[in-house]
Amino acid sequence: MPKPPATGCGAAPVLKERGQREVFCGLTGIIWLHRKMQDAFFLVVGSRTCAHLLQSAAGVMIFAEPRFATAILEETDLAGLADAQDELDNQVAQLLARRPDIRQLFLVGSCPSEVIKLDLGRAAERLSAVHAPHVRVLNYSGSGIETTFTEGEDACLAAMVPALPEANAKSLLIAGALPDVVEDQMLGLLRAMGIEDVACLPARRADDLPAVGPDTVVALVQPFLGETLAALTRRGARHIEAPLPFGDEGTTAWLWAVAREMGVDANTFARVTEAPRARARRAIAAASGTLNGKSVFFFPDSQLEIPLARFLTRECGMDAVEVGAPFIHRAIVGPDLDLLPEGPTISEGQDVDKQLDRARAARPDLTVCGLGLANPLESEGLTTKWAIELVFTPVHFYEQAGDLAGLFARPLRRKEKLRLEAAE
Ligand code: SF4
Repeated sequence: MPKPPATGCGAAPVLKERGQREVFCGLTGIIWLHRKMQDAFFLVVGSRTCAHLLQSAAGVMIFAEPRFATAILEETDLAGLADAQDELDNQVAQLLARRPDIRQLFLVGSCPSEVIKLDLGRAAERLSAVHAPHVRVLNYSGSGIETTFTEGEDACLAAMVPALPEANAKSLLIAGALPDVVEDQMLGLLRAMGIEDVACLPARRADDLPAVGPDTVVALVQPFLGETLAALTRRGARHIEAPLPFGDEGTTAWLWAVAREMGVDANTFARVTEAPRARARRAIAAASGTLNGKSVFFFPDSQLEIPLARFLTRECGMDAVEVGAPFIHRAIVGPDLDLLPEGPTISEGQDVDKQLDRARAARPDLTVCGLGLANPLESEGLTTKWAIELVFTPVHFYEQAGDLAGLFARPLRRKEKLRLEAAE
């Protein structure tokens, strides 16, 4: 199991900042959630800006029936001249008549729907009553006010929790959306240890929704699920605290925490994990030559910053200068903070100008930040990595550990190549 450093960051002071922020809004989560939940539909109740964000982030789907759309609030809605609830009922009725494959419909709130105080909770209740039992209608907010983009998934999963069936026996629930191939790898490892009965939130289909109750233990595969965890805890579930499953060390510690909870013995655990661990270590070693000894600076964006800083410092030999996170949920990232060697500034929230000054002064070898900051920093000679890629790319568990290291190594290699070409 991972050996904690002499002094970790668990008790390190946190620089709290409350200034201007540069992040995407929670609607972004729809891009990976609609792929994951195969019979769900996301209807954003928003403006043309919201529609453009989704279209440009997700790409226009030409050949497939999309599983998301935007119900545009027109000026008459915004001015309170039309009854937006009636409009919404009509839109939903048309959509469900055309798409009988939809089993879960999410009404997703936005800045405009919040500004006009459109009560989507009431709409979801009313529409659920009309379209049940075939379709369950839920609502959550993806609004960009005071949020960051991974909170969309958190809000979506948290909205599902009250409607989950009641579990009457001990059960294991894994919360957090993973690409199917990665989820299958995880389930395969757990099965090989004898843990057969594992439920996932979100489930791929509405018929497979997990049950939850006082005998449910829950493990998170994403660090940004604070609301979801709170909602599951209210249903009686107990959280299995562990580092997040990134890299060899994080994956092993996460799996061991789950295995121990489910009564798996140490020999079985070692037998099942030995080969994939060795593969992960080899793959990380192949990429970490480029990263070793380099410095990294995290701007707050995806909420993955703390577990990733732990991976980069402990498994890839990097030095963290600053690890900024939009929010620090200690109940979730505490084990990662304990393993992160002392040294970096740990910051929560953002005051973007001050943070840019700190990054410019430190001139890190690699800066992990949002799209809006990357180009200006590149033009100043800093090498950047887009944080959003870390959410769109499969990076969890052993088989992706090498790819995860590679994601950070690639911009450094590109920079070196350009330098060599310029010198020729
Ligand atoms: S929800 Fe708000 S921040 Fe997000 S695209 Fe719509 S208007 Fe912009």
